Amino acid sequence: MTASYVIIGDGIAGSSAAETVREDAPDADVTVITDEGEALYNRILIKEFAKGKLPAAPMSIHQPDWYDERDIDLRLNTFVTDIDTDAHTVDTHEGEQFDYDKLLLATGGTPVQLPVPNSDAEGIHHFWTFEDARAIAERAETADSGVVVGAGLLGIDFAAICGAQDVEAHYLMRGENWWRYALSDDGAEIIHDALEDNNVTPVFDSGVDHFETDDAGHVSAAVTPDGDRYDCEFAGVAIGLDFNLELLQNTEIELDDGVVVDEHMQTSVEDVYAAGDLTRYYDTILDEYAQNGSWGSAKEQGSIAGENMVADGEEATFRWVSSYSITHFDFPFLSFGHPTLGDDHAEAKFSDTEWRRVAFKDGKIVGGVLIGDLAPQSKYKKLIREERVVADQKDVLMREEVDLDELAPAAEQ
Ligand SMILES: Cc1cc2nc3c(=O)[nH]c(=O)nc-3n(C[C@H](O)[C@H](O)[C@H](O)COP(=O)(O)OP(=O)(O)OC[C@H]3O[C@@H](n4cnc5c(N)ncnc54)[C@H](O)[C@@H]3O)c2cc1C
Repeated sequence: MTASYVIIGDGIAGSSAAETVREDAPDADVTVITDEGEALYNRILIKEFAKGKLPAAPMSIHQPDWYDERDIDLRLNTFVTDIDTDAHTVDTHEGEQFDYDKLLLATGGTPVQLPVPNSDAEGIHHFWTFEDARAIAERAETADSGVVVGAGLLGIDFAAICGAQDVEAHYLMRGENWWRYALSDDGAEIIHDALEDNNVTPVFDSGVDHFETDDAGHVSAAVTPDGDRYDCEFAGVAIGLDFNLELLQNTEIELDDGVVVDEHMQTSVEDVYAAGDLTRYYDTILDEYAQNGSWGSAKEQGSIAGENMVADGEEATFRWVSSYSITHFDFPFLSFGHPTLGDDHAEAKFSDTEWRRVAFKDGKIVGGVLIGDLAPQSKYKKLIREERVVADQKDVLMREEVDLDELAPAAEQ
C-alpha cells in the first residue's frame, strides 16, 4: 500500500520536510496543508518589502507548480482544526478529512497581542505573514508618526521599517536596553545610536498602558503606564509568539510551551513529528530541551523530520548552531546559538560600532552576539559544536582577532 504523509504548515519547516519526504519516498502520497493563501515565501525578506526596499517577486520561494512537479498535493487556504492520532486522521475547516501514516506538525506561531485596551485598533500591526507585510507597508507609507513595542529581533524590524518609510517613531522598551537579555549597556548603546540615526527614539523603562483611538477607531496615541503619551498613526507590536497548538487539543501529544520532540523530531505520540518554531526540542549540544525561532533551524528540523518520517526509525539527528542576522544598519549584526542562556559571559568593545559578547554554560560557549565584525562567528560556532570548555580563556576569546590555536589544548584543560 502507498504510504501517506501529511504535513501541516507550508513555512520553511513544512516545505523542507515535504521536499525531503518526496526525495526519500518517490511513490508516497504527500500532502501539504496551509491556511495561508500563498505557497512558501521568504519570511525573512518580508521586512525588506515592508521597508519599501524590495518588490514582491523575490519573496516567493515556491510557485504552485513546484509542488505539481513533485506530485505534492498543496492545499492553500485550508485550516486544520483537529487531529485524531488514534484514527490517524486530520480534519480541516471545510470538513475534509485526510488519512496519514506519518504526520508532521509545522504550524509555527502567531504574534501575541498586547493585553491592553484598544490593542486591536486600526493601525496597530503585528508581523508574521506576507499579508501582514503588505498592510504594514501600505500604512507606513502614509503615516508620519509611529510607536514600536517589543525590544527584540522582530521589534527592531518595525523600527527599521519606520526609519525607511520616514515615520518619526518612538520605540517603547521595558528595560534600559534593547534586547536586554542578550546585550549589555555597551552593545545596546550601538543599537540605540543607530535607531536615533534612523529617526527612531528609544524610550526606556516604558511600555503601553493603553492605546487611544480617533472617532474612526484608528490608533492615535500610545499611553505609557506613567501617563506619557506618544502620538502615532502607526504602531508595530512584536512582543512574542503564541504557538499554533489549538489543533492538538484532542491529542495526547506532550506540550511544554511548544511541542516537545526528541533530537529526531519525534513527538511523544507514535507517527507524529514536529519541526520549526513550535518545537521544544532536545538539543544535543546543550544536553537539555531548548527552543529556537530562526529560519535555518526550522529548515534543518524540517529536513531531519522528513528523513525520519520515511526511514521509520531514529536515523537523522538534529544538531545545529543557529544564526540570526540584522541588516538594517551600516554595521552587521549577528546572534548565534543561544545568546540569552548561560551562567557566565565575556564581552569586549572595539569601537563605536564593534562589540561582541559570548555566553557560557558550564564553561562551554552556548551562544553570543557580534556587532560590527562577524569574522569570529565560525570560530565560536566551532567551539560550540565541539562542546569545548573555554570559559577560563576569555582573554584569548575576546582578542580582536580570535586564533583558536592560542587556546590551551583541550586535553590540558
Ligand atoms: C518579519 C520576520 C523577520 C524574520 N527575520 C528572520 C531573520 O532575519 N533570520 C532568521 O533566522 N529568522 C527570521 N525570522 C524567523 C523565521 O522566519 C522563522 O523562524 C521561520 O520562518 C519559522 O518557520 P516555520 O516553518 O517553523 O513556521 P512558519 O513560517 O510560521 O510556518 C507555519 C505555517 O503554518 C501555518 N499554519 C498554522 N496553523 C495552521 C493550521 N491549523 N492549519 C494550516 N496551516 C497552519 C501558518 O499560517 C504558517 O504558514 C523572521 C520572522 C519574521 C516574521
